[in-house]
Amino acid sequence: MSRTLFVTTALPYANGSFHIGHIMEYIQADIWVRSMRMSGHTVYFICADDAHGAPIMLKAEKEGLSPDKLVKLYTRERKKYLNGFQIEFDHWHSTNSAENRQLCCDTYYLLKKNGFIETRSIEQFYDPINGMFLADRYIKGECPKCHGKDQFGDSCELCGAIYSPDELIQPYSDLSGTKPIKRFSEHVFFKLSDPNCIKFLKNWVAGKNSSGNFHLQTEVQAKTYEWLGIGKNKSSLKDWDISRDYPYYGIEIPDQPGKYFYVWLDATIGYLSSLKAYCTLKKIDFESLIAPNSNTEQIHFIGKDIIYFHTLFLPAILKFSGRKTPDTLNVHGFITINGEKMSKSRGIGICPMQYLKIGMNPDWIRYYFASKLNHRIEDIDFNFQEFTSRVNGDLIGKYINIASRTSNFITKCFNGVLDYEEETQKILLDDIKHRTNSVRLLIENRNYRYAVREIMNYADHINQNIDTAKPWVLNKATENLKNERNQLQHACSNALAGFKALTVMLCPILPKLTTCIAKNFLKLILILNGKMQVSCLKIYCHSSILWNELIQK
Ligand SMILES: [Zn+2]
Repeated sequence: MSRTLFVTTALPYANGSFHIGHIMEYIQADIWVRSMRMSGHTVYFICADDAHGAPIMLKAEKEGLSPDKLVKLYTRERKKYLNGFQIEFDHWHSTNSAENRQLCCDTYYLLKKNGFIETRSIEQFYDPINGMFLADRYIKGECPKCHGKDQFGDSCELCGAIYSPDELIQPYSDLSGTKPIKRFSEHVFFKLSDPNCIKFLKNWVAGKNSSGNFHLQTEVQAKTYEWLGIGKNKSSLKDWDISRDYPYYGIEIPDQPGKYFYVWLDATIGYLSSLKAYCTLKKIDFESLIAPNSNTEQIHFIGKDIIYFHTLFLPAILKFSGRKTPDTLNVHGFITINGEKMSKSRGIGICPMQYLKIGMNPDWIRYYFASKLNHRIEDIDFNFQEFTSRVNGDLIGKYINIASRTSNFITKCFNGVLDYEEETQKILLDDIKHRTNSVRLLIENRNYRYAVREIMNYADHINQNIDTAKPWVLNKATENLKNERNQLQHACSNALAGFKALTVMLCPILPKLTTCIAKNFLKLILILNGKMQVSCLKIYCHSSILWNELIQK
């Protein structure tokens, strides 16, 4: 059955260039999207720049630019990275857009109408030197839970505790270093602690999507249960403060002049508004995609640092503004480099632009990530030595080697004509069908690591068959011996059928290499006298129903 999928990655914050963590997430999602398209499903693969908030405003100020100019500097370079790593979003938008402004305001009014918005006066930290209320990230102090020093106002990097800046011990302004003073201000809240909201979230967290899988991975589910107070804990959910005071770079709240939507609110809505912008371009009915009874599956790929926003705020905001809620949240871990935590100051990391600039093949890093990623939230280690040996050993030593060991014989000795042994042909095709389907399912379940393992096991199997058949020996005896000649042709044809199957299995992971092979395959097996049996070798690299094509034949 054909599915319609609305797939996003997390919206990157537009105050810097992409780092390798962004690229890994995009590659993870891109592999999945390509595979789903190969199965014939309709996919809208969408992302956008997260372009608002205090950090952008303050960085722009420091650099003497308008926030808009600063954001544009980074937005402009996004394409170079995405194209470079063969990441094919259907649409890349921005939260600083007319669509997002409109949808944020609409959502706000809907939430208000449904009784989920409340205004309260709260006492907040204010930096008297800078003349502004301090965003959580600009207040630092001692963590109330573990007493770690210099922690942010909203969460502790040491123990993972989430709290309000009020709870910090000995707070100070990270902008001026001074002790902030308390001032009252009207703030707008989304009633996350409303009993109806908690009830909905408990159901959603425990719920399954239309494929019969849980919305959340086991680890994510457990963490969210903790926040919701299922099990031993009491719910610690507090209403969500969705407003910020002027000066703030963002979307002004329509009926609250001088107040702006907190950047996380407009980024959450940003997923939808980016889809909306795409739908407008393509004349697709946006409202039907996000209606509560829509069959469109909504799937988000995110990192483990932003689970809180995506398991609580995102579904709640969508639910109570009368829209469909997310179907699947795919959370991944972080990257370490040769066993060490990434760190700009210590020079530990991989610069994605540098990777491309020195001419490294994007497929290599895609393959390497695929060989490490699975459906769990495990951190993965980028090990340079392992990277080199995977690329050389697997891609060149195993996969490409199959074609180079056999295609020449077919070209030179058999005018490019493939031929299969009648008795074994069905076994060969059944085997291919079985293996391809297994790899397809592994990719669909995001078990890329095991998919790659199966692909390489198959490559080993084909290479072993070549070793056993010894085509180079058969070739020496071929002149007059019909039997050996047939054996040579069969062995090479079998190996090339396997090579074709491997190429299809690797399509989502290695788009550049497989496209190149598909384009040149006819040249690889030269058509001499128009005799080539194309039927078994046609590779439809860009046709949409690639998996079925192979599985059904
Ligand atoms: Zn702590």
